[in-house]
Amino acid sequence: MIDLRSDTVTKPTEAMRRAMMEAPVGDDVYGEDPTIAELEARVAGLLGHEAGLFTPTGSLANLLGIWLHVPAGAEVLCDAQAHIVRAEMGAHAQLHGITTRTWTTSDGIADAATVAEAIAPDNGPFLVRTAAIEIENTHNFGGGTIHSAETLREIRSLALDAGLKTHLDGARLWNAHVATGTSLADYGACFDSVSVCLSKGLGAPVGSVLVGSAEDMARARVQRKRLGGGWRQAGLLAAAGLHALDHHVERLAEDHAAARAFAEAVGLAAPGSVGPEKVPTNIVVVKTGERPAGEVVAAAAGQGVALSAVGAHLVRAVTHLDVSLDDCRTAGAVLGELLALNPRTDGPSSGFAGRVVP
Ligand SMILES: *Cc1c(COP(=O)(O)O)cnc(C)c1O
Repeated sequence: MIDLRSDTVTKPTEAMRRAMMEAPVGDDVYGEDPTIAELEARVAGLLGHEAGLFTPTGSLANLLGIWLHVPAGAEVLCDAQAHIVRAEMGAHAQLHGITTRTWTTSDGIADAATVAEAIAPDNGPFLVRTAAIEIENTHNFGGGTIHSAETLREIRSLALDAGLKTHLDGARLWNAHVATGTSLADYGACFDSVSVCLSKGLGAPVGSVLVGSAEDMARARVQRKRLGGGWRQAGLLAAAGLHALDHHVERLAEDHAAARAFAEAVGLAAPGSVGPEKVPTNIVVVKTGERPAGEVVAAAAGQGVALSAVGAHLVRAVTHLDVSLDDCRTAGAVLGELLALNPRTDGPSSGFAGRVVP
């Protein structure tokens, strides 16, 4: 099976497993795990922030990051297809009493004017108060798309003018960094807090890191414990993250090339279903025309290619370090031929409202 469902499916390499076995560890609730401390400091440094907090998932890192900035009863603004509103099971609302209001884009990438329009300053007893702006970079359901550093600086300045905080869901910020050459610190400078995933393209088995001010990370550490996320000797897991930072960042360029090769192969057999020139990173979203995405996913699986349905007529492929360029070309040809059996590919270009079939 060529598994392109997500870049979370990677298995730790032999070298990563060795690094995990050899890691010095301690009880992190006592603040005694040196490997976790090293990972937190390193990621904070890369992003130009004071401190970091290691979490089991990106969802928890986002939950804590937004909670730092938005009190119960206030709102965070974000894209309508943001992971925080679509894929975190309503946690921000259910656990922290936070409401969201969203803007809409075709590919997940907002400009500053769109964000500015959504901001609702304190309107007394009439409207929910905006407390923070959340941005996702790269944008997952948008197709691995990238907000430019310039746009992010504009959004940051809007937020400062309005007295709002900013949080970046940077689950795949590494991909944006490698694709554009924009430094992680330049991205980091536009936000009060940033979450990054180690378990996506970087290939670690588990883990994310939240970064921000030392004061905010101290608060987030307490809330993480409250939510049941205090670790003990999790340096074993942090070691995988450190290994990934040393060995798996620059190679993301290979995943981006493989994603373009996949899209080219799909487009060759089924023109119009995907624009290979619109594959900025490691995610390819393909239109299935009139055929239900779930049916296409099932047919592809029957031919050895695992994909995800991310909308009623949209399927997604994600490249990663456990698939080769050749695998991706082959997978693209398989999907392209399936779609060519039904040449109508002029279905909706967005419309993520459909059921997601894993
Ligand atoms: C994967 C992902 C996350 C975090 O997911 P977890 O499964 O909770 O680690 C957050 N944001 C985006 C955009 C993601 O793709």
